[in-house]
Amino acid sequence: MERSFGKMSENIITDVAQNRQWDAGGEKPDVWVNTVCGFCGSGCGIEVGLHQGQVVTLRGREDYPVNMGHLCIKGFYQWKALNSVERARNPMLRKDGRLVVVSWEEALAAIEKEIGETLLKAGPSSLGIYNTGQLTLEEYYVLGKLARGFIGTANIDASLRLCMSSASHALIRAFGADTAPGCYEDLDLADCILIFGSNPAEMFPQLWRRIRARQKKGAYLVVVDPRKTATARAANLHLPIKPGQNIPLLNSFLQVLFQKGLVDGNFVAEYTTGWEKLRDAVEEYTPEKVEDRVGIAANKIREAAVTFGEAPRATSIFMQGVFQSVGGADAANLIINLHLITGKIGRPGSSPLVLTGQANSMGCREAGGAASFVGMRNSLNPLHRGEVALAWGINEAILPQYTNNIFHMLEKIERGELQLLWNIASNPAVSLPNLAKVHQQLDKVFLIVQDIYYPMETAQFADVFLPAAGWGEKLGTFTNSERRVSLVEGFQAAPGEAKTDLEIFQLLAKRLGFGKSFGWSDSEKVFDEWKRLSANRPCDMGGISYNKLRSKGSIQWPCPDHNHGGTRRLFSDKKFFTGPNYSQLNEEDHNKLNKARIQPAKDILPLETPNEQYPFWLNTGRLLEHYHTRTKTKRVPELNRLISSAFFEINPLDAVRLAIRKGQWMKVVSPRGSIVLPAKVTDTAFPGQIFIPFHFGDLDPGEDRFNQAANRLTHEERDEHSSQPVLKLSVCRLEEIDDPTFCN
Ligand code: SF4
Repeated sequence: MERSFGKMSENIITDVAQNRQWDAGGEKPDVWVNTVCGFCGSGCGIEVGLHQGQVVTLRGREDYPVNMGHLCIKGFYQWKALNSVERARNPMLRKDGRLVVVSWEEALAAIEKEIGETLLKAGPSSLGIYNTGQLTLEEYYVLGKLARGFIGTANIDASLRLCMSSASHALIRAFGADTAPGCYEDLDLADCILIFGSNPAEMFPQLWRRIRARQKKGAYLVVVDPRKTATARAANLHLPIKPGQNIPLLNSFLQVLFQKGLVDGNFVAEYTTGWEKLRDAVEEYTPEKVEDRVGIAANKIREAAVTFGEAPRATSIFMQGVFQSVGGADAANLIINLHLITGKIGRPGSSPLVLTGQANSMGCREAGGAASFVGMRNSLNPLHRGEVALAWGINEAILPQYTNNIFHMLEKIERGELQLLWNIASNPAVSLPNLAKVHQQLDKVFLIVQDIYYPMETAQFADVFLPAAGWGEKLGTFTNSERRVSLVEGFQAAPGEAKTDLEIFQLLAKRLGFGKSFGWSDSEKVFDEWKRLSANRPCDMGGISYNKLRSKGSIQWPCPDHNHGGTRRLFSDKKFFTGPNYSQLNEEDHNKLNKARIQPAKDILPLETPNEQYPFWLNTGRLLEHYHTRTKTKRVPELNRLISSAFFEINPLDAVRLAIRKGQWMKVVSPRGSIVLPAKVTDTAFPGQIFIPFHFGDLDPGEDRFNQAANRLTHEERDEHSSQPVLKLSVCRLEEIDDPTFCN
């Protein structure tokens, strides 16, 4: 097998916008189809170029407000992943220890039998579902309806658990609903942009292009990151925080704002609750008191806070460096508090902007495809439960009152309480922490894997495999990180016998005896049912239709009626979603006046810290060239050639001290396991810190020693509120290897 180290992404390629031509050597398109990108949650508009019905290229939609004709390399090449020879074409069933091709009839009959027996033996709590942020809203709606309303299971979660659950928790706590308050335009208008624990230069290249354009016009860019990323290098002020210290630093920002009188007293008094508690909680966190702990000089902390506070308009972006760190949900609330106490929300240029990593994470949260209840409702609220039961024609009692997340499900597998897990478009055998344990758990359960590729790591544990259609092979809607709903069009047929996820859900519903309630003829009919249930909810799509999306291009919710043009930013009227019988909050958390809730944070320490045996911090994260567990991007030759192997970043000082050469293969060892990777010697990593991209799994299926999954090293600590894993704070050491087959 090729063990090429690949070209590292020193030069960030954010823009192939002007590459408005078809692939060299390809045919000239005769038709262009409008759609949106299937990768990150920025949600860029795309035109797909077809020649005689075959895709030959993509280009950015010039009329689309997110990207205005621009695309990043991942978006540009994504169509090539569709045509991989490893696209799954047939259902498979495990027989005598091997997955063998069977008919749909045989595969569905096996699932029907297994689900039927499981439900009979142990009830709905013995069945679990784990999905993704990449299905269409319509598919999430149908899956949530089937799981909660007809099977009646509380076990439904998605890979959003790993990236968005702390954000969701914080947004619900602050605003009453899991919404995105602002919009991308706020980046074009802000005077100060605070980027905390995020690297948009690699993760969100099109938003980064807009941030840089605004910076050139004078906006002040503050970046908080323990690595010197491409984003940090471009900052006006980079604060290289010590790992695990987000809460004391944010408390200190807030202390400075209170102490300097940079608080909008009117806004706080009229439209928020809880500010006094916050003021008292942060009083002790003066910059001088926290500077050693967080690793940033007091004057720099003050400069960042004052710049934010004095800026007429300020927007913040915060991501996995916050959510996957210690106290993720609390820290997210502290960033929201920066906006609430300064009144920098609900007006142009001022918003807390939480971006989503996956193309339709927001759609999943809206439609109830995972942990949330359909239409951003509260599953404990009798009024909400009644609305849903009436719409679905079911007895309300079947609706679970709570949700078990994937970690609860894995624990239930260990205890023998969960017998069947249905994994859809997700790759937990690479993406979950402490993989050795996860693999044992996946081995113990009857596992259905539904995916667009075979082989893929999680399918190694499957009892049944169902081939699914991918982006570009089905019609539906996506919602991006600024609540912008767009149509994703199908422009080619799925390969072999693969079916859309929607078709598979309908077939299974019919098999289980629920066919009457799942009989839509197409996705538009599903959307029409969903939008009626979204009425009067924060994500109201009552005024959106497929026709309207085709003519307008995209619409931001809420859009309550046909004549409504959508809502650019929320809370301009300073009315939040916290009122009783409306919000996703539980009863005791409501406030009657729809005020935003200011929330202090608990200052807790990381589970493990570097020690004699494991002297390095281990941080994991993403690269521009790859997406999630690379199921798609490793099958795009142009992307895989750029980086075809994982690596570990190490600071030059540490490399010299340990005599590690550039490209030298080393064993990275944590208390959970080890992987072998080449060294990338770079000052992007600070001394004492190792960074590994998490995208990689099996480089060579079946050869365990070529498994590069960073999650073989990470631990299972989770946020106490959101259950999001603390993936960015483990410890490790480096060991030399003595194996000539690795390319030293
Ligand atoms: Fe796609 Fe995100 Fe790149 Fe835009 S920035 S083209 S949405 S991957």
